[in-house]
Amino acid sequence: MNDLFFSEKHYNLREDVRKLLMKELEPIKNQINKNNKIPIALIKKLGKNGLIGPLIPEKYSGSDLGLIAHCMITEEISKINVAISVTRTPCILNGYLLNRYGNDFQKEKFLKKVATGEKMCSICVTEEEAGSNVAGIKTSASKVGQNYVLNGSKKFITNAGIADYYFVWCITSKKVNPRNGMSVFLVEKDTPGLHIENPYELMGINGLYNGIIRLENVEVPEHNLIGEKGMGFQSLMNTFNIERLTLSCECNGLSMAALEDSKRYAKSRIQFDKPISTFQIIKLKIAEMATKLQAARLLTYNAAKLAEMNKNIIKEASMAKAFSSKTAVEITSEAVQIHGGIGYTDVHSVERYMRDAKFFMIGGGTSEIQNLVIAREELK
Ligand SMILES: Cc1cc2nc3c(=O)[nH]c(=O)nc-3n(C[C@H](O)[C@H](O)[C@H](O)COP(=O)(O)OP(=O)(O)OC[C@H]3O[C@@H](n4cnc5c(N)ncnc54)[C@H](O)[C@@H]3O)c2cc1C
Repeated sequence: MNDLFFSEKHYNLREDVRKLLMKELEPIKNQINKNNKIPIALIKKLGKNGLIGPLIPEKYSGSDLGLIAHCMITEEISKINVAISVTRTPCILNGYLLNRYGNDFQKEKFLKKVATGEKMCSICVTEEEAGSNVAGIKTSASKVGQNYVLNGSKKFITNAGIADYYFVWCITSKKVNPRNGMSVFLVEKDTPGLHIENPYELMGINGLYNGIIRLENVEVPEHNLIGEKGMGFQSLMNTFNIERLTLSCECNGLSMAALEDSKRYAKSRIQFDKPISTFQIIKLKIAEMATKLQAARLLTYNAAKLAEMNKNIIKEASMAKAFSSKTAVEITSEAVQIHGGIGYTDVHSVERYMRDAKFFMIGGGTSEIQNLVIAREELK
């Protein structure tokens, strides 16, 4: 399948990425899960090696590898430990946002540091009363002199506590529809009035930092407004397309790992004097897992290819995300089933894959919301 989308350049890059990950991530992948702690130094190392900057031009210290390469890198990281990839994702998204909507000053000041992993990012949209309904956010930003003053709170924020740059979506005009009255601001971590809490544990993605941020009269300079005032909803929707592709690749990386582990186990586990891989029901499971995974990857790489051709991918990105996340939940669950009792323990990684997979039907827009987008586009 890869031959449809990968050039020589992608295959060579994949070899380099695999070598780096084998050395740096493979030996500690289970430790991250057990200790429930992300090694932040590793994320920074990925940045230094160009793996946070594939969508950022070289002029701003990016690796400018393109979207197909980004998808491939994301799959490779996620195959080993998806929490590392999910931690990297807000840096990818805010790098994309800054590059597309930021001005030269902001690119010089902030983007270069995001591209190289020097500064970590959070994307702050969700609120207590505004989850799926993004247009319902209440966090506000008011102009006071040369500054903006931000008030409100955000929930479920990935990298809360470890990010240096918090990109906060706010209402800047209550007089118009929120779709035309929303703006995004960069808040640096030590800004007075920014409070961070991590009051819960997650079901999966062990090690991921996630929490609540509260903004109490947080003052940011005018030049921290990213993009045009009032255009934050539009910039968010475009960033969501990249998020949906990235999350699809994370799902597919998980599914690839679950399928590989299942094949290996099925060939080695003997019951009734035969490897369980010789039983027709197990063969059917493997066949269906492989077919669904292929379909999920085709949807994802097809959307990435269209985006590289500057086509509108709103429907294709939602299709990829809805299908890849459902597929990951199904494949990882079958992987546990193929492993039998030992699959339900922490001896193998399949229990982790299954817990991790569920996140992707919720984060980055739920499957229900992806299906609403697909139906809206189909019924136009
Ligand atoms: C681990 C994790 C990390 C996250 N990281 C971030 C982050 O970094 N930044 C950020 O801003 N947010 C983040 N989120 C938040 C995530 O984007 C939201 O949880 C998600 O968009 C759903 O919002 P909600 O939880 O409020 O659910 P709700 O919107 O309350 O939805 C509840 C249920 O109702 C369904 N539903 C809602 N509206 C409709 C409708 N119109 N039609 C049909 N069904 C509907 C939903 O699909 C869902 O099943 C994260 C969440 C998690 C769990």
